[in-house]
Amino acid sequence: MTTFASFGLAEQLVRALADKNYDTPTPIQIQSIPPVMEGHDICGIAQTGTGKTAAFALPMLHRLAATPKVRLKYATRALVLAPTRELVSQIAQSFTDYGKYLKLSVTTVFGGVPIPRQERALSHGVDVVVATPGRLLDLVERGSLDLRNVEILVLDEADQMLDLGFIHDLRRIVGLLPRQRQTLFFSATMPKAIEELAARYLTNPVKVAVKPAATTAERVDQAVIHVNQAEKPALLQLVLKDAGKGGPVERALVFTRTKHGADRVVRQLGNAGIAAEAIHGNKSQPQRERALAAFKAGTCRVLVATDIAARGIDVSGVSHVINYELPNVPESYVHRIGRTARAGASGQAIAFCAEDERPFLRDIEKLTRQKVTVLALPADFRAAVVAAQKIERAAPPAPREEFRDDRRDHARRPAGANRGARPGRDPRAQVTPQGRSGRAGGAGGGGGYRGRQG
Ligand code: AMP
Repeated sequence: MTTFASFGLAEQLVRALADKNYDTPTPIQIQSIPPVMEGHDICGIAQTGTGKTAAFALPMLHRLAATPKVRLKYATRALVLAPTRELVSQIAQSFTDYGKYLKLSVTTVFGGVPIPRQERALSHGVDVVVATPGRLLDLVERGSLDLRNVEILVLDEADQMLDLGFIHDLRRIVGLLPRQRQTLFFSATMPKAIEELAARYLTNPVKVAVKPAATTAERVDQAVIHVNQAEKPALLQLVLKDAGKGGPVERALVFTRTKHGADRVVRQLGNAGIAAEAIHGNKSQPQRERALAAFKAGTCRVLVATDIAARGIDVSGVSHVINYELPNVPESYVHRIGRTARAGASGQAIAFCAEDERPFLRDIEKLTRQKVTVLALPADFRAAVVAAQKIERAAPPAPREEFRDDRRDHARRPAGANRGARPGRDPRAQVTPQGRSGRAGGAGGGGGYRGRQG
C-alpha cells in the first residue's frame, strides 16, 4: 500500500499528515507527489475534493525545505494562483497545516481587504504566496512584491480563472516570473483554451488525471423536481423542512445564479422561519467568513451561494446541494454537486427546474452522461405554496436593490480594468431562468461590487 512516508517526503510533513489523520494518499496525490518532488512540471485534471491541494502543497513544501534559502525582502520562492479569496484562504491553510513542523512562511494575497497588511507581510520576504491574480498585480505595481525569485508556480482551477476573465492578469504575471521554474497546472476541465494555456506555460509536463469532473456526478444521488419559478420558494421551504427522500437535511448548500437571487432566497427563508446565510461577491470578506464559519459550525444549516463564491468551499458534512436555479454552464452543475460527496462521502443533490431551464438540464445530462431522476412535487406542495404566498404578503417589502437587473452577476469583471471578454462559451449565458433577458443593464452601475475577487 502506498503511504505518505513511502514517497520520501520530509519527516516533518509525514508527522503533520499523521496529525490530520491522513492515512492513505488519494489517487491524485499518488500520481502527482513523486514527479513534483523530482522537479517536473505537472498538467493535472482534477477538481476540489480529490485531495488536489495536498497533491501540490506537500511536494512543494518538501522541495522548499530541502533547499533552504535566505529570504529576500519583498520576494517569494513559490507562487500559487487561485481564482477566489475562499480558495486562496483554504490553500494557504493547507500549506500552514502541512508545513507546521517546517520553518517556512506562507502569506495570502487577495482583494477586498486593506493592502498595507499584505505589504507588511511581504516586506521581509516569504516562502509561499497564495494569491488571486488582481491583487497580486496591484502589489507588484506598488513595488511590494518581486516575482523574480519564484522557483515554483502553481495555477489552480485554471478553467475557473479563465472564466473569470483573469487571462490578461495571468499572462502579465507569468511574464514577470523567471523562465527557469517549475510549473504545476491544475484544472477541473480541459477545454481547448485551457489546453493551449497549459501548453504555453508548461515544459514537458507529466500529465495526471483523476476521474474527469463529469463523473463526480456518479457518486451523488441526484434528483430534479420540475416546478414553476414562482413556486420555488415554497418548494425550498418544504425540502428544507422535510428532507426530501434522502434523510434529514443536515447541512444544505443552496445555489442561485445571481447575488441578488441569493439574498432573495435568504430573505424568503427568513420570513418562513428558516435561518440561512448568503455568500456571494457583494458580501465583504468578514461577512463571507462569518457566514462560512456559521455553516461549518452548524449554527446555520443553510448556506445560499453563487457559483463563484462557492468555489473552493470545503465543508464536510454537506448533506444536500440544492440547485434552486440551474446553471447555464453544465460544468458548474458538476462543481456544485461536488460540494456534497467530498472526500469519498456521498450526498444528495436536488435541482429545481423551471420550464425555461429545461435546456440547461438537457446540457447537464449530456455532460454527465446521466439522466437525472425526476421526482414528483411533494404531496403537500399546493398547501405549502399558499402558505408561502401568505407569508410573503405579510412580510415587509423587499429592499429595492433586489430588483435591480443582476443578469451579469457571474460575468462581472473585477472593477477597474478591462479584463478581456467573457468567454462566451454558452450563447444563453445572459438569459436568466426568469427569462428577464430583455431588461436593460443596471448591474454595471453602482452595483457595489465590494472588493475585487482578484
Ligand atoms: P482538496 O481536493 O484539496 O480540496 O481536498 C479535499 C478534502 O480532502 C480536504 O478536506 C482535505 O483536507 C482532504 N484530504 C486531502 N487529502 C487527504 C488524504 N490523503 N486523506 C484524507 N483526507 C484528505
